Parts: sequence; C-alpha cells; structure tokens
Amino acid sequence: MRLSFDPEEPPADPPAECVSPTIWRLSHRLHRCHLLADDGGCTCGEPFPCRSRRLVERGFLAALGLGVGAASRQDLLDRLTAENSLNAQPVRPDPSDSRHHRPGLPGKEET
Ligand SMILES: [Zn+2]
Repeated sequence: MRLSFDPEEPPADPPAECVSPTIWRLSHRLHRCHLLADDGGCTCGEPFPCRSRRLVERGFLAALGLGVGAASRQDLLDRLTAENSLNAQPVRPDPSDSRHHRPGLPGKEET
C-alpha cells in the first residue's frame, strides 16, 4: 500500500488518513529519539530497532488505523504515553553527532 508520507521521516502533523492524531503525535515525539545511527544502532544506544522504536512503528500504523484493532490502539496509546514520560528530559540525540566524536587519532593535530 502507498503511504502519503515518508516512513523514515514522518511529519509532525498527522497525515490526512490518520485516525488517531494523539497516537500519531506521541509516536512522532518518541521517533525523534529512536533513529538509526551511523553505527547501525539506535540513537538511544540500544541495538536498532530497539523496543521503543518498534513501539513507534506500531504507533504510526495504529494512528493510520492499520494493523491493530481499537483495543490494541488503546493499549498502544497507554504504552506510548508511558514511553513519552520516560523521555520527558529534553535530550535530543542527533544521529549526525556520532561522527564528530571520534576517539583521538594518533599523529597529526592541526592547530
Ligand atoms: Zn531506541
């Protein structure tokens, strides 16, 4: 099936086919903290996709009315709410950061 958005870069605002904007927004907030990093892991430090990332992916589908029934949607909403409160700290890992933190290379040092 075709999605009206890029699953790798879901928009912050729910797309037209979204049936649960709340789940969408919660998923989107979590999504920013769980991206594929340069080293192949998740930006949260877990192997990718981590538990939260999988929850996010289910959340996006559920928000579109896909894959889950109403009961599961409520369950997902609860779990996403819980995950979001865990991630309430304004920590925003940037996947492009990791490549700037190379351990000191021996040899040349420009001054
Ligand atoms: Zn993660």
